Amino acid sequence: MSDPSFDVIFIGAGPAGYVGAIRAAQLGLKVACIDAFAGKDGKQALGGTCLNVGCIPSKALLDSSRQFHNLVHSFDVHGISADNPRIDVPTFIGRKDKIVKQFTGGVATLFKANKVTPFFGTGKLLGSDKDRGNQVEITSPDGAKQTISATNVVLASGSVPIELPFAKFDGKAILDNASALDLAEVPKRLGVIGAGVIGLELGSVWRRLGSEVTMLEALPDFLGAADPDIAKVAARELKKLGLDIKLGAKLGKAEVKKDGVHLTYTDKDGEQQLVVDKLLVAVGRRAYTEGLLAADCGVQLDERGRIVVDEHCHTGVDGVWAIGDAVRGPMLAHKGSEEGVAVAEWIAGKAGHVNYDTIPWVIYTEPEIAWAGKTEKELKDAGIPYKVGSFPFAAIGRAVAMNEAIGQVKMLAHAETDRILGVHMVGPGVSELIAECVVAMEFKGSSEDLARIVHAHPTLSEAVHEAALSVDKRAIHKGN
Ligand code: FAD
Ligand code: NAD
Repeated sequence: MSDPSFDVIFIGAGPAGYVGAIRAAQLGLKVACIDAFAGKDGKQALGGTCLNVGCIPSKALLDSSRQFHNLVHSFDVHGISADNPRIDVPTFIGRKDKIVKQFTGGVATLFKANKVTPFFGTGKLLGSDKDRGNQVEITSPDGAKQTISATNVVLASGSVPIELPFAKFDGKAILDNASALDLAEVPKRLGVIGAGVIGLELGSVWRRLGSEVTMLEALPDFLGAADPDIAKVAARELKKLGLDIKLGAKLGKAEVKKDGVHLTYTDKDGEQQLVVDKLLVAVGRRAYTEGLLAADCGVQLDERGRIVVDEHCHTGVDGVWAIGDAVRGPMLAHKGSEEGVAVAEWIAGKAGHVNYDTIPWVIYTEPEIAWAGKTEKELKDAGIPYKVGSFPFAAIGRAVAMNEAIGQVKMLAHAETDRILGVHMVGPGVSELIAECVVAMEFKGSSEDLARIVHAHPTLSEAVHEAALSVDKRAIHKGN
């Protein structure tokens, strides 16, 4: 191999690809990163789904809508009142757009600072040339083509929403995540197909602004991936918010008519009808690999269309790796970023590492939901003996002072070794509290370790401390 133009080419600049590209450049490698995503202005917008139409814009709208909802519904207990609170939707959406621009532009600045060469267009892995390494063809938005080469190529093409054949996205009445983050006004009636992470977060956004939100979830259980005690509290609180979540409801038909989207679905009582003004379809995402792989490049896809990789994110083709939503594992930004860093380190001859057992999940509803590690069901199924400790936010002074004393922290520890095996939370600020538990689990800590650590008073983190104490039935501020 005599003349590859780069050491590494990343295809995709989402949180997997752009983070990996920066880490590879930090390690002294010559790096290119190709991405096809265009922002509202038609220019390249780095950062993938996460920065453009995912994590960041959804959190911006969640935060604004939370402020509005609290102003309307809960500020009175603090003695705060406002006359005629209103939401200006263009300002609400404009603030989100500004944040997106700040962060996508930030990635471009980071690329410049780290000497990562960005290419705007669609990358296709062509296969290997014995002199120039792996070849990647780039088709720019105007159709022009060029080929670049590298010793290593990292596929980080991410994911796209799954489309239902009988409810195809049109961006106007039937929405995917991108269009549901960009509505011009609050829909009077919003239907949501899928009460998963996106459905709950975006359903909450528009409900808080006044939409009547009806969610149809095919499965009989609410949030099946979460601990049932945590899911129960979340279901109760989201019902209080006004989300009408219908479980075991299977959509059969969605017809766009003049007066709205007419839905036909079946539940335990038979066929039902519902008319909504907008319909968000959030039934999961699939790996995106269209146009990415030449037929003879040797990279394999599994039965779900994901790029096949081993435990080191290697595809089995010399110098070709794959990371993020395009491969197995949870579709989470931080999982993809850690894989990007690990692959960059492996390519540079260092010891990369991703611990898939301690990846935290957070759902940014109100109250927030967070967990890491095993659930009770997983431990039972695996025959692992465990102890349970829990503590309610109702007994945490800070949570009461904030008027957000809802939910609990639940900790699972090995019955004999006391090692923390899983932590499950619902309540205020748990998106941040879970980090302490992840650190403890990463260091193979025990509930006793967390119980012996001094936690500041009054803080929400005292709920983690007390849950750890409660594993051995010695919580101070509740009966054990
Ligand atoms: P992506 O972010 O999808 O990026 C892939 C990039 O590759 C895209 O820019 C795409 O245009 C580009 N691309 C694809 N093919 C090619 C090609 N052939 N050539 C050039 N470019 C190509 N995760 C969290 O952890 N926390 C959250 O709070 C969260 N919130 C979310 C909210 C929503 C509404 C959505 C939709 C997702 C959310 N996620 C969240 C999931 C998160 O966005 C994804 O897990 C993450 O973006 C995956 O990163 P990635 O780099 O693998 O892929
Ligand atoms: P999801 O898998 O979380 O939820 C999809 C839901 O739709 C499931 O409950 C499923 O049972 C249901 N469903 C599937 N087909 C259906 C049908 N025909 N009718 C009714 N219900 C149906 O998927 P999502 O909400 O689309 O989100 C995709 C992924 O994006 C998430 O799994 C997650 O990895 C990522 N994400 C993460 C965050 C976060 O970390 N806070 C936020 C948003 C998205």
